[in-house]
Amino acid sequence: MRVPLDKLLGEIEQEKNNELKAEIRRIVPHFAGFTFRDYEQILKELARKYAIVPFRDYRKSSGPRLILRHDIEAFVEPALQMAKVEQKLGISSTYFVLLSSRLYNPSEKTSFETLTEISRMGHEIGLHYDVSMYAECGRPPRETLDIELRLLGHLLGNEVRAISRHNPSIQSFPDPFVHMRELMNAYDVEFTEDAHYVSDSCRAWYLEDLLYLLLRNPGKVQLLIHPDSWTATRCGSDQMLAMRFRQLGKEDRRDETLWKDEWKTSERVARYGKSLEVVRKRLL
Ligand SMILES: [Zn+2]
Repeated sequence: MRVPLDKLLGEIEQEKNNELKAEIRRIVPHFAGFTFRDYEQILKELARKYAIVPFRDYRKSSGPRLILRHDIEAFVEPALQMAKVEQKLGISSTYFVLLSSRLYNPSEKTSFETLTEISRMGHEIGLHYDVSMYAECGRPPRETLDIELRLLGHLLGNEVRAISRHNPSIQSFPDPFVHMRELMNAYDVEFTEDAHYVSDSCRAWYLEDLLYLLLRNPGKVQLLIHPDSWTATRCGSDQMLAMRFRQLGKEDRRDETLWKDEWKTSERVARYGKSLEVVRKRLL
C-alpha cells in the first residue's frame, strides 16, 4: 500500500532523529541522477538499513532484507557496469534475462560473454519471460517456460530458479506462473504484497516508495532497477536512449522512436517530474 508523498514529507520534516533526516537529505539528490555513481550512493545508504540479497537468498535471510532485482530489457552492457558497482560493495543481486528480446540474444557471443561475466561475479541469473510471445507464437506456456529455464541454465551453467514477467502492466491477462512454489516469481504475493515494492521503470520513481524505504524501514523489500536506464555520466532520457540505440545496427534502431515517445507521454514520467520538484523544495 502506497503512503501519500505529502504525508511522508511531513513525517520527515517532523522527524526527531536528526541523523535519519540527514541520511534522507543526503540520498535525495541521487534519486534524479541515474548514473552508476548515483546508484552506488543509493546502494550504500540502503546497505546501512537492509541485507541486500538476490532472490535465491531471500528466504534464508532474516531481519530487514531487500531483494535487488534487475530486468535486462534491451542492452546487456549497462548490466555489467551495474554488476561491477554491486561487486565493489560486496552485494549480489538477480539479473533477469529475456530470451525473446529484439535487441539482444544471450546465445550471441558478446551478450553471452557479458552475461557469463555477471554470473561469475556471483550474481544470480533469472528468466525474464514474455508470456504474450508464447501466446502469439502458439507455444504451450508451461512447456515453453521450462524449455527457456533449461536453455538459460544451460548457457550460463547454473540452475535458474527465479522468474519475472516482462511487461506485466501493459498486458491484460493474468500471469499463469505467478503461484509456482517450485520457482520464485518476482510477482508472487510473497515478493509484492508481502514486501514493499519499489521500481525505477521509465526512469520515473514513485518517490513516496523510495522515501518510505528510508523512513519507515519496512522489513521486506523488492527493489527493481533497470540497468538499461543508468549511464556513466548524467544525461536526459532522450539522450540516454539515443546513445543506447546508436550502439546498435541501423535495423535495430526501429524501437528508438517508440521508446522515446512512450517515455515522453507516460503519465508515470510526468508524475515523477512533478513529485521530484516537491521533494526538492521541501527537503533540500
Ligand atoms: Zn521487461
